Amino acid sequence: MGLAQRVQYFSESVIREMTRLAAKYDAINLGQGMPDFDAPAEVKEAACRAIHDGYNQYAITWGAPPLRRAIAEKARRFNGIDCDPDTNITVCCGATECMMATMMALVDPGDEVIIFQPFYENYGPDALLTGAKPVWVHLNPPDWSFDADELRKAFGPKTRAIIVNTPNNPTGHVFSRAELDLIASLCIEHDAYALADEIYEYINYSDKPHLSIATLPGMQDRTVTISGLSKTFSITGWRLGYCIAPAELTNGIRKAHDFLTVGAPHPLQMAGAAAMALPDSYYQYLKDGYRQRKDLFLPYLREAGFQFNDVEGAYYVMTDISRFGATNDTEFVNWMIREIGVSAVPGSSFYRPSERGHTQVRFMFAKKDETLKAAGERLLRIRDRLKASAPTWLAK
Ligand code: PLP
Repeated sequence: MGLAQRVQYFSESVIREMTRLAAKYDAINLGQGMPDFDAPAEVKEAACRAIHDGYNQYAITWGAPPLRRAIAEKARRFNGIDCDPDTNITVCCGATECMMATMMALVDPGDEVIIFQPFYENYGPDALLTGAKPVWVHLNPPDWSFDADELRKAFGPKTRAIIVNTPNNPTGHVFSRAELDLIASLCIEHDAYALADEIYEYINYSDKPHLSIATLPGMQDRTVTISGLSKTFSITGWRLGYCIAPAELTNGIRKAHDFLTVGAPHPLQMAGAAAMALPDSYYQYLKDGYRQRKDLFLPYLREAGFQFNDVEGAYYVMTDISRFGATNDTEFVNWMIREIGVSAVPGSSFYRPSERGHTQVRFMFAKKDETLKAAGERLLRIRDRLKASAPTWLAK
């Protein structure tokens, strides 16, 4: 019998595979993007309260009203996006489902979707599951900006949408006003949608403000802004995300969402509304915490011999491993898990074709200080090994 073609074009998530391997070898997992610290106490209490208060049946498919109201208020205040909770917002099971539902609603088989690479690994399968053709444009190290001509050439008559993820996973790049202006002008010229994944919007260390492309002239009607609560409130397991879009697009997204999942967990949506009512000081605390973790962990990596520019946003660092003489990222990470006791994600899982990532490895630093210190100390052993002998990272 065999599998349908649509699941044969991509393999199982490398990130989750590395997580399993890390567990097997008891390595510190700096691969998968989830914190090892807990959500704010008041947010957890709100979830327990919502269950006790009886919010245990389906919510309205496109989101519990208090959460949609909180999202609309936040979008106005923080992003400068004017939206109506009744007609412009769809709550989904994480930003992950938001992107899938959006693509199903807006993209036809055979359409082209422009994706910057290295890319967040879901975007490729998202495009393929919709029957779309991904068209890749490179973000180039060390500052991870893109070449304007390469982007211009990527747009064409079949372009239906471009995915813009800022702050960016895996590169940490925060898109500048000039970069977003160019993307916006090309979207308008080619009548394409911008699918803006802004899940790391509050984790920005750069002096560039977080800018939602939906707010640029001519873009509100052609942008779906996607974000969620996973990263902002350290609740990746709750599966709460949302799409903000013009009413007509929202109608389509809601239809796709309804038949994909019916809805996100009702009590957690109620608690999500409570989370979004936290004072502004919470967001400063969140950002300061991540800045501290970055400043703690990145010097270890540099000292160990990994090469990279400082990170502008999100909680990942994409490093170059050529200095170790390494040419196969997957073997390198496997070795690091077994011999050094730290897991990361091989760069090739962020590229198509994957070769371009063969000298890159991504680390994430959403971890407690003690976890980062322990991982850092272990990573320094790579430097010591290199000093002790010629590059022998593969030789056990
Ligand atoms: N978008 C990006 C860029 C991500 O890095 C992640 C998680 O790592 C997600 C979306 C998934 O978000 P959610 O947990 O809301 O599905």
